[in-house]
Amino acid sequence: MTVLEIRNLTKRFGGIVACSDLSFQVVQGEIMGVIGPNGAGKTTVFNLITGVYGPTSGQIIFRGQEIGGKRPDTIVETGIARTFQNIRLFKNLSVLENVIIALDQKHVEYSLPRALLRTPAVSRSEEKLRKLALDYLGIVGLEDKAYQRADSLPYGLQRKLEISRALALEPTLLLLDEPAAGMNPEESLELAGLIREIKNRFSLTILLIEHHMDVVMELCNRIVVMNFGEKLAEGTPEEIQENPLVLKAYLGEG
Ligand code: ATP
Repeated sequence: MTVLEIRNLTKRFGGIVACSDLSFQVVQGEIMGVIGPNGAGKTTVFNLITGVYGPTSGQIIFRGQEIGGKRPDTIVETGIARTFQNIRLFKNLSVLENVIIALDQKHVEYSLPRALLRTPAVSRSEEKLRKLALDYLGIVGLEDKAYQRADSLPYGLQRKLEISRALALEPTLLLLDEPAAGMNPEESLELAGLIREIKNRFSLTILLIEHHMDVVMELCNRIVVMNFGEKLAEGTPEEIQENPLVLKAYLGEG
């Protein structure tokens, strides 16, 4: 079943066409890679799907519903969450508080006064929220770092915290923007294992932007290759690796 359909999507910024007549479909349960050289338009596609920008033209259909141009919080409500290429944590808050804020956004019935986040648990719903946040941290192996400041974590762990926070929004479609950036090959393969585990555990569909080709080839069922805002190719990892256009544009070979 198709969960996301990008149909003739175009986004212009003044004279720049960041995304040009792009079309592709994402099937439930798959991990689809979005790759391409720097400036190809990958993050722009994520920004369009998550409502950061409205499309200049074209459609974004999620589970049969047009979401192009809707507000980011409305799009989260429909079941889409993301991480960012440039990590966006609340750096001066604790690791736990970063997840609690995401939960707070999702579970409005708890709606805690911000001041309470720093004090010991005083109500049952707050206790519940803390426990839930610890569960989400446990999924990415950060439970024991819960009370550290977010910016005290090494870069790789901050990326995992971003994933934990996105999961707390209970998405069915998760967009990961360069989750392995700054990681060495060993760390990035470990992360790939974690992403697969999360996908299976939460029955997610995942769109993955990543420059680490070992991670892309390991994880993705299919890949869309972008270049100058356009779709250059689409196929399985094997097909993409052998595509002369891709080798020329993306790897500078051929
Ligand atoms: P990278 O791999 O370097 O992250 P990318 O494939 O994600 O690149 P985008 O960040 O989507 O590429 O950028 C595509 C093009 O759109 C670039 O030329 C970029 O400068 C331009 N662009 C993106 N956002 C804006 C904006 N808000 N205003 C103006 N131009 C923008």
